[in-house]
Amino acid sequence: MAKVLIVDDSRTSRKILKEILKVGGHEILGEASNGEEGVILYKECKPDVVTMDITMPNMNGLEALMCIKKEDGNAKVIMITAAGQKEKMVQAIKEGADDFITKPFDADQILGAIKRVLKSD
Ligand SMILES: [Mg+2]
Repeated sequence: MAKVLIVDDSRTSRKILKEILKVGGHEILGEASNGEEGVILYKECKPDVVTMDITMPNMNGLEALMCIKKEDGNAKVIMITAAGQKEKMVQAIKEGADDFITKPFDADQILGAIKRVLKSD
């Protein structure tokens, strides 16, 4: 079981993620709707894993990834990308993203990624 922080500006995506995570036996520590909120919540709740959307207002997922990794080098961050964001994915790898999932995602992809990043400790 992992304690997860969900960062996504789409309420629908957050809802789907929450349901998948709950069914998988994980605990949702918090939800943020933009990168800035995500970084603040990360510091507050210290999750085991973050699911991070890339395209968001205020602060995008890449910037939030950088801030979180700066704060905690051991942070586990799974990037959720839309199709056609290859350049952003490459950038995210450079910034230390731990895994990637492309929208539209399914439960197996999400739960598999959580398992992988937790194992990589
Ligand atoms: Mg988005």
